[in-house]
Amino acid sequence: MEDCIFCKIIKKEIPSEIVYEDEEIIAFKDINPAAPIHILVIPKKHISSIIDMKKEDEATIGRIYSIINKIAEDIGIKEKGFRVILNCGEDGGQEVKHIHFHLLAGKKLGQKIV
Ligand code: AMP
Ligand code: ZN
Repeated sequence: MEDCIFCKIIKKEIPSEIVYEDEEIIAFKDINPAAPIHILVIPKKHISSIIDMKKEDEATIGRIYSIINKIAEDIGIKEKGFRVILNCGEDGGQEVKHIHFHLLAGKKLGQKIV
């Protein structure tokens, strides 16, 4: 996707602070952090949102949770805990149309909705 900001990050066309990368998943620091630790974990394949994922994407999307686990271990937030958020569509507040999982940590997170 040519005009997708996260695809540009994947292609290193715009800078980001990458904290994890493999052949199908990349994680980088959110540019406007909502918590002391705010990392975005995304598939390298352009999938617009959770409702656009296909059967063939199940393994990659599932593996994102394993990568979140690994990152949590690596940066030392496993004990204290963290929150994972995925926004979808207008009501969900999704702004960037490339599926992404927010990993938030580093303080007691407020505004618990569910
Ligand atoms: P969402 O509202 O769920 O679509 O989240 C999009 C997130 O992407 C926001 O938290 C933004 O701060 C973040 N973001 C937008 N542009 C960049 C960028 N160039 N590098 C890192 N994070 C970004
Ligand atoms: Zn994209």
